[in-house]
Amino acid sequence: MPSSGSDQPPASRDVISDLESAARRLDPGPDERRQAADRVSEYIHEYLDRLPNAPARFDRPDGGMAIRDSPISEDGIGLEAALGLIRENVDTVGLNPTSGRFFGYIPGGGLFGSGLGDWLAATTNRYSGVTFASPGAVRMENMLIDWMARLIGFPDTAGGYLAAGGSLANQTAIVTAREAKGVEGAEVERSVVYLTEHTHHCIRKALRIAGLRTCVHRVVPVDDRFRMRVDALEQALRQDVKNGLKPFLIVASAGTTNTGTVDPLGPIADLASEYDAWYHVDAAYGGFFRLCGESCPETVDLLEPMSHADSVVMDPHKTLFVPYGTGALIVRDRRRLLEVHSMDADYMQDTRSAGHEDSPADLSPELTKHFRGLRLWLPLQMHGVAAFRAALSEKLHLARYFHRRIGEVDGFETGPEPDLSVVTFRYVPAEGDPDDFNRRLVERLQRDGRIFLSSTQIDGRFTLRLAAVCFRSHREHVDEVIDILRRTAINLPLS
Ligand SMILES: *Cc1c(COP(=O)(O)O)cnc(C)c1O
Repeated sequence: MPSSGSDQPPASRDVISDLESAARRLDPGPDERRQAADRVSEYIHEYLDRLPNAPARFDRPDGGMAIRDSPISEDGIGLEAALGLIRENVDTVGLNPTSGRFFGYIPGGGLFGSGLGDWLAATTNRYSGVTFASPGAVRMENMLIDWMARLIGFPDTAGGYLAAGGSLANQTAIVTAREAKGVEGAEVERSVVYLTEHTHHCIRKALRIAGLRTCVHRVVPVDDRFRMRVDALEQALRQDVKNGLKPFLIVASAGTTNTGTVDPLGPIADLASEYDAWYHVDAAYGGFFRLCGESCPETVDLLEPMSHADSVVMDPHKTLFVPYGTGALIVRDRRRLLEVHSMDADYMQDTRSAGHEDSPADLSPELTKHFRGLRLWLPLQMHGVAAFRAALSEKLHLARYFHRRIGEVDGFETGPEPDLSVVTFRYVPAEGDPDDFNRRLVERLQRDGRIFLSSTQIDGRFTLRLAAVCFRSHREHVDEVIDILRRTAINLPLS
């Protein structure tokens, strides 16, 4: 062995023991630990106790400044002061996606059971990146992936991984498609990607990051319900082949973010197969509605053809209600993922002999990663799938209920009957510019903050949307939205 690089003599016992007693503060003893855990637990219960009456948005644009002004210091400020900073500067500032009155964008989750799972995962800190390190943690995550693969209807060849979110899962899907189809060098510019104007922007971002910016981006027209037009897709494919281009990737949405629309997944699958293009379904928002059985058979029919995709993205941090930081990519043939992501290194040699269980590190761009599975597995095991199925079916019904009820209120017009749980609508004032009126309407609602809705542009028109996704949203909250919308619209000046 080479000799030590340092000529320093070893430190005296006193120096080391001083350091030890300072360092031991990082590892509190049983009493201190219990006290701190009780204090955090109390904080969480107070938060949840207040939640039913808390706003969906806190109108404090300068909120959070005290965090900026409380630098990380030598001695720390202690748990109590830190909780105070969190309460005043984080938990009562900005949007409140844990509220049942939050209907903006695609609402998130925050199941209590996931919080417990995260606490367990963070404390036991099992290494879920490679099977050798924690076969149990890896098997838990792979089992969840298998469960999702069965939900999609994929064969046993499927595999995937729990990503940090839908954007990263889509990113991995696109890199996998690129490798599987050999799109590199001169091929890039003659390879065609098919999507619609409603495809989530993370797909274009992923294409750019993946070095596929110069692929031909074919924006396929949509029908009057914002679904990809199959006839237009077919025509584009035919024309592209005729022109010497190569159909590379078709991206369908199973629930667009904008309108919750499900593209015609079955007919698109047929075309993808006919033209030998990779078929990716972005079901980040809508995929888990596949769980809804008898109570919503139409929805099941819409989503069933996901089973023909080459890859599917679903976001447990949306429609399985777990906290942010949990997406999923499932690929029909997991060898495609392994081909791209499996790598070796000398310092990893001990980890190779772990048997048949694929490591997330070999299926994804990550190595050391959050043990995400536990925040999903624990609530599923605690409550069972039936509770999730009921919550999702309830959201589908709430969206239809809102669509009908708001359409009956004077002055409001609605977009199409929702495929899933997003409803678009707007107010048509007796006079003046409707775009301007709806812009001011949504601003007024957001400043008020009791409920939260977001807006979008559809065919160049300023449009409001309600996304029923939060597991805490029930009919009373939708009724409250309708009431607040009606009153606010009536009282808003026409210009
Ligand atoms: C939310 C969403 C994404 C992006 O997922 P993140 O988890 O926010 O990164 C992609 N596609 C669709 C359809 C989405 O709804």
